[in-house]
Amino acid sequence: MITSNRVRWHLGRVISRQFETGSAVRLELAVPTWPGNDAGAHLDIRLTAPGGYQASRSYSLASSGESTRVVLVVQELPGGEVSPFLVRQLAEGEEVEVQGPLGRFFVWIPAEPEQSPVQLIAGGSGVVPLFSMASARERELKGAEFRLLYSVRSPRDEFFADELAELSRTVVEIVYTRESAPGAGRPPGRLTREALAASTFPASLSPRIFVCGPTSFVEAVAGWLVELGHDPTQIRTERFGGSR
Ligand SMILES: Cc1cc2nc3c(=O)[nH]c(=O)nc-3n(C[C@H](O)[C@H](O)[C@H](O)COP(=O)(O)OP(=O)(O)OC[C@H]3O[C@@H](n4cnc5c(N)ncnc54)[C@H](O)[C@@H]3O)c2cc1C
Repeated sequence: MITSNRVRWHLGRVISRQFETGSAVRLELAVPTWPGNDAGAHLDIRLTAPGGYQASRSYSLASSGESTRVVLVVQELPGGEVSPFLVRQLAEGEEVEVQGPLGRFFVWIPAEPEQSPVQLIAGGSGVVPLFSMASARERELKGAEFRLLYSVRSPRDEFFADELAELSRTVVEIVYTRESAPGAGRPPGRLTREALAASTFPASLSPRIFVCGPTSFVEAVAGWLVELGHDPTQIRTERFGGSR
């Protein structure tokens, strides 16, 4: 386990930025003092304005392992205080303060002996830490069976589209809520309890489940999972904020 007792502020430099979608940016930071992180962990970014005003927000790490380079994907929230700056203005070469790694509960550790399958369920940008877990699973020869259910507005809003298509150890299923991909098997629509049941491991297999996304999404999904007979102690959730 990497995420333990080593949380402090670090100075990171943006070494690359590229648009992940029209309204989200993938940032790679070089953080020379970063201790590494488990898959699923997050960090806090702290910005300081010229007058000294500070704002900090949490962002999940798309990267994991013993690297001093960390990858984030930030979705712009129009009118938000921090995300529009990160998405539109923070430039390559600039420095930001980051604190972490954070989140001991919402992590997947490859070394754990694991019999039960692992079900990942993402809403929107909540796919970031779950992608990190699927990528970590990809690097392991042995391990649990993985499935990812990813609810996203449209193909244009998908994060990690190429990487998800290349995963060989995680079965990926995408639910488009507003606009489907050409040839998609089902019309667009919000995830329902029935669709969730049809696209995830059944409770009889006792999967470990990680759910991440906007608060309302996480609460709806966690409630359905319990109704479907899953053991609440097997369900781990991370809420990104927003509507309740
Ligand atoms: C553990 C954790 C990990 C996170 N990881 C990521 C990540 O990987 N990528 C990412 O893009 N964001 C992530 N977030 C969300 C992020 O921390 C910010 O909340 C988000 O970027 C908005 O910040 P802001 O300053 O732009 O908006 P704010 O000025 O804080 O908020 C503007 C308005 O938007 C609402 N709001 C805040 N967050 C959300 C949301 N998620 N959905 C809908 N409405 C919201 C607020 O209630 C407020 O009304 C994570 C949050 C947590 C707690």
